[in-house]
Amino acid sequence: MSKKIVCLFDVDGTLTEPRQPINASVEKFLLETIKKEFDIAVVGGSDLIKIQEQLGGGQLFEKYKYVFAENGLITFKDGKALPSQSIQDMLGEDALQDFINFVLRYISELQLPFKRGTFVEFRTGMINVSPVGRNCSKKEREQFYEYDNEHHIREKFIQALKKEFPDLALTYSIGGQISFDVFPVGWDKTYCLRHLQGYDEIHFFGDKTAEGGNDHEIYESDLTIGHRVTCPKDTVNQLNILMALLKENREKEQLNVPLQCV
Ligand SMILES: [Mg+2]
Repeated sequence: MSKKIVCLFDVDGTLTEPRQPINASVEKFLLETIKKEFDIAVVGGSDLIKIQEQLGGGQLFEKYKYVFAENGLITFKDGKALPSQSIQDMLGEDALQDFINFVLRYISELQLPFKRGTFVEFRTGMINVSPVGRNCSKKEREQFYEYDNEHHIREKFIQALKKEFPDLALTYSIGGQISFDVFPVGWDKTYCLRHLQGYDEIHFFGDKTAEGGNDHEIYESDLTIGHRVTCPKDTVNQLNILMALLKENREKEQLNVPLQCV
């Protein structure tokens, strides 16, 4: 009996260059070669709209059996939405508002070289906080990133939040150039695994697998077989290796089956 396997992919840096649409040859390989052997699924930290932009618009749900946006807080299986939880259900409105008020107050007292708009972006399972504001241009993003490397604005902000809210079970994750994410403990990418039932093996492919990276927990999870990749091309290479290994194992198994009289 062949094993039931699902290949689960991170998006940015794994299937696509960061924030870019998937390369046509990578997509063709996934849909025409990999999908014949395994179920395929994607898990991204960003919202569904961004994943749709990167991975094929309206046909997204036909291409991937599972689509996990926001680490799996938003889940589609065969195109159908599964029930989700929200950060407001988890924290409660009072705690949530105290938190947001503190964030806004802290930002109001920050002196930076410049500030733009959208300092708090509220998502289903996380809050994204940007001291400089998400509405900055590409050039301004880079400028802030450099400034932050020197002055540790985001790190200090997180320390202040941890000190102010020691009892809220929250995780803080610095990603990208201008912001950090805040979400309940455990609502990292491992969250999506609760929806992947009935598989013998879950192969996860991701690029940010080191500690502090947003693929770390799911890469290390006992429920997955983790593959660390460096770019989409490397993902394709590693999938080819996986396919070759499984083929070899299958052939060995067939040789080991005792001969039977028919
Ligand atoms: Mg990534």
